[in-house]
Amino acid sequence: MTGTPHPQRTTPQEGTHMSTEYSTDGDVAVIRMAKPPVNGLGHALRVGIADGLDRAAADDSVRAVVITGSDGFFSAGADITEFGSDKATASPNLSELIGRIEDSPKPVVAAVDGTAFGGGLELSLGAHHRVASASSKIGLPEVKLGLIPGAGGTQRLPRLLDPAVVAEIVATGAPRTAAAVARIDGQQLFDEVVDDSADVVQAAVALARSVAGTASVRTRDRAPLAGGDLDAVADKVLRRARGQEAPAVGLDLVRTALTTGFDEGKAAESAAFAKLVTGGQSAALRYAFFAERAARKIPGIDAAVQPRVVERVGVVGAGTMGGGIAMNFLNAGIPVTILEMAQDALDRGLATIRRNYQAQVDKGKLSAEKLEQRMGLLTPSMQYSDLATADLVIEAVFEDMEVKKQVFTRLDEVAKPGAVLASNTSTLDVDAIAEFTDRPADVLGMHFFSPANVMALLEVVRGAKTADDVLVAALDLGKRVGKTPVVSGVCDGFIGNRMLHKYRDAAMALLRAGATPHQVDKAIEGFGFAMGPFRMQDLAGGDIGWAVRKRQYAENPDMPRDEIADELCEMGRYGQKTGAGWYDYESGSRTPKVSTVVHELLERFHHRHGTAKQEFTEEEIAQRLVFALTDEGARILDEGIALRASDIDLVYLAGYGFPRYRGGPMFYADRVGLPAVVEKLRGFHAGDEGWEPAPLLVRRAQEGASLT
Ligand code: NAD
Repeated sequence: MTGTPHPQRTTPQEGTHMSTEYSTDGDVAVIRMAKPPVNGLGHALRVGIADGLDRAAADDSVRAVVITGSDGFFSAGADITEFGSDKATASPNLSELIGRIEDSPKPVVAAVDGTAFGGGLELSLGAHHRVASASSKIGLPEVKLGLIPGAGGTQRLPRLLDPAVVAEIVATGAPRTAAAVARIDGQQLFDEVVDDSADVVQAAVALARSVAGTASVRTRDRAPLAGGDLDAVADKVLRRARGQEAPAVGLDLVRTALTTGFDEGKAAESAAFAKLVTGGQSAALRYAFFAERAARKIPGIDAAVQPRVVERVGVVGAGTMGGGIAMNFLNAGIPVTILEMAQDALDRGLATIRRNYQAQVDKGKLSAEKLEQRMGLLTPSMQYSDLATADLVIEAVFEDMEVKKQVFTRLDEVAKPGAVLASNTSTLDVDAIAEFTDRPADVLGMHFFSPANVMALLEVVRGAKTADDVLVAALDLGKRVGKTPVVSGVCDGFIGNRMLHKYRDAAMALLRAGATPHQVDKAIEGFGFAMGPFRMQDLAGGDIGWAVRKRQYAENPDMPRDEIADELCEMGRYGQKTGAGWYDYESGSRTPKVSTVVHELLERFHHRHGTAKQEFTEEEIAQRLVFALTDEGARILDEGIALRASDIDLVYLAGYGFPRYRGGPMFYADRVGLPAVVEKLRGFHAGDEGWEPAPLLVRRAQEGASLT
């Protein structure tokens, strides 16, 4: 694309908005969206584009218009910070603006030069032609916020692209590259897809010039394309989107586009959008989106505090966790030295990492070349001195204070000054671990979840003496490797497992009161959890908890026994690994079958205790479990272990399969109303162990305040 002069950059238009730049390249006007960081289509940017269109319309020397973006973004869509404010709908709203582009008597070409998501993609659909650079990403991610595209996307896109593909784009929110779209049969979305090295604006200007003066066709006036099998898409997509409203609504709207005229379809889309945007699921999903951003800000730590630089990582222990932890960094191109005590353990650890990568290669998710690149970044070692160059060392050895002491004493000797020293402990006191070194300010917990290369949650455990730049370094690094880091104070179980404990207690209390494991699992899965507590325990193995209980009974003989769970384990029913647990499993199968053995065990228990068995509705079961989480969450918040209620919710969304469209245990309780939550908690547990709700919950309920 050499030889053609670049459009002359002019200063931003004068007036109230500075969001667009207007220039001309001969007889073609170029409107450049320039609203950092992502060209969010807030009011100012919409006005800027509209003014640009007016200016082009009024200028007789202009015969066609190009709209483009800047800095890798065509536009990431609506400005989410304007949601719910007057600005979101102030004229021109997005639909009006797109209508004006579409009705422009001078042809409009969108030059997609980077991300075009949501409203950004919809804006480009209003143009008469589109040109994109190959790696530009398009998508309609509204569904991730519980919404559907509200500015004609569900109606215009099926007129340019195979409706089955559109249905998938709308219902999953997953992006596509322009290059991938260009390969779809019959696609008319892009007139041209140029190499990333080419100048996409120049290509658009050339196309605009070539169509100037000819009648252009509005997207809305085109016939929908003949499509693939929408039912098959629905089957596949909706199963994964269980419980969510927006994906099914989006799919229906794509069907509507194929069977009715544009105006009717657009009206249906607007009505559906209005309903979803005021509904609970979208409120929860938007809350979750902001919760992720909020979690990175630590009150009392100045934004100017720079994280310690981490370019090399050491991992001590190549077991279940150490291997998975190492993979996170290798995936992000960060070299890792992994240390073990014995050659065979080291070999096993390395073989597991390679096998995990190989499985990704076999599924076509990773190239063989990348596998070797990643393994090439990994240095196995049995010498502590090899950790001397690491900027961060994460310990993942046995969960035993004596072993942790040995490791941290050695790390203190070899690690370079300023290196961050982290423990992956689940249950031990991070402050005590820090005191094994002469540099407790450099120590903190980085609590990964199993499988550590897959699970998004990372609890960053802030010790009493952890330095600010150490804490910030762990948060920063977590984000760099694609995790969801959440800060927790030091306490038994940190945020997530401490709450899980109460959740399990509530599940066991339900069994004692007459419910069955299957009833409990079904109710909470119906609520939207990926897996109920009993299926989960069968997967993880009941023997670990039993070993802990036996130790506790020995130390504390008066402690009440967990009769039901103990008897199950005494029968050797540890879960899937022994072919039987809370459920029966046929050999080689992971499908749980309701067990008569467990039924009889429960009956014996009820007989012994003369239980007056209660009947539970699914809602009651789900609320007992969820409010147990809320209750412990409120204590955690009150103690300052969590910095904010939304951090607690984030832990449950990212690490424990809580349905995102319900926002988390704290947000959910707020939606139900805290007075009702307090009343239910008291009622649920009246006959059991007498569980008085957390003081913070009671206080907030009395004050008419909320948790989030
Ligand atoms: P694991 O038994 O699978 O692995 C521990 C590894 O550490 C073994 O390979 C062992 O050889 C090695 N090791 C022991 N002492 C060592 C030493 N002095 N120097 C070097 N290597 C040594 O255990 P895991 O499940 O990976 O757990 C590791 C840590 O992570 C524990 O603190 C555990 O509480 C925590 N954790 C585990 C999980 C989980 O689900 N497994 C989740 C979160 C945190």
